[in-house]
Formats: sequence, C-alpha cells, structure tokens
Amino acid sequence: MSKTLFEKIIAREIPAAIVYEDDYVLAIRDINPQAPVHVLIFPKKLIPRIAEATGDDGKLLSHLLLKAAEVAKKLGLKSGYRLVINNGADGGETVPHLHVHILGGRHLAWPPG
Ligand code: AMP
Repeated sequence: MSKTLFEKIIAREIPAAIVYEDDYVLAIRDINPQAPVHVLIFPKKLIPRIAEATGDDGKLLSHLLLKAAEVAKKLGLKSGYRLVINNGADGGETVPHLHVHILGGRHLAWPPG
C-alpha cells in the first residue's frame, strides 16, 4: 500500500515545518493556513480517520489530544483556539491519515461552513 502524505512527512521524504515530535505523534505547520496559527498534529501510526479508530487506539488518541493542547499552549494561543477533525468526504477530509487541526490567532466564527 502506498504511503499517505503524512507517512511521507514522518519518513522525511517530504519536507515540513515541524513544531513538535515524539515517539507517537508529529505536529507540522499546515501548508495552506486558514488562520494565523494552523498546525496539524497526527499519530505516527496510520489510522485513516477517526471513524476507523478502535478501542485499542484509546491511549494514542488521548495522547494526541493532550499534545494538541500542549502545542497550542507552546504556540502562545492564550485567548483560545479550535481543534478540528475532518472525517470523510462531507467532513472535508482530504488526507486519509487521522489528524487534528489546531487553529488560532484570530477569532474563529461559528458555525463553520
Ligand atoms: P483535511 O482536509 O482535514 O484532510 O486536512 C488536510 C490538510 O493538510 C489541509 O489543511 C492541507 O492544507 C494540509 N496539507 C496538504 N499538504 C500538505 C503539506 N505538504 N504540508 C503541510 N500541510 C499540508
């Protein structure tokens, strides 16, 4: 099976601006930012999307969310931010490798489009 974009970034086959990395997750700047701060954080283990996560992934998903909050703090998003997971075609998913968008640095409207 061919690698996902994020697997290629994890393997350093494609360059990215890395903001955080540990044994389980990687966080990079989004190449097409939708806010002054737009970072993607994803597990190194391939889970295509949240709908395909299982109970066995619980610890990893908890780590992913806790690290997303830690990265947001490190990036200085003191007055708030949004975490987004797009799932499937109607959810706006374009990369089939589970990732959390960390968006901040401006007021974000609700509801999203
Ligand atoms: P989604 O649409 O939720 O699947 O999010 C995929 C995100 O990956 C989009 O926000 C893209 O801008 C972003 N993206 C695509 N290619 C790259 C890349 N090479 N480096 C960083 N971010 C990327």
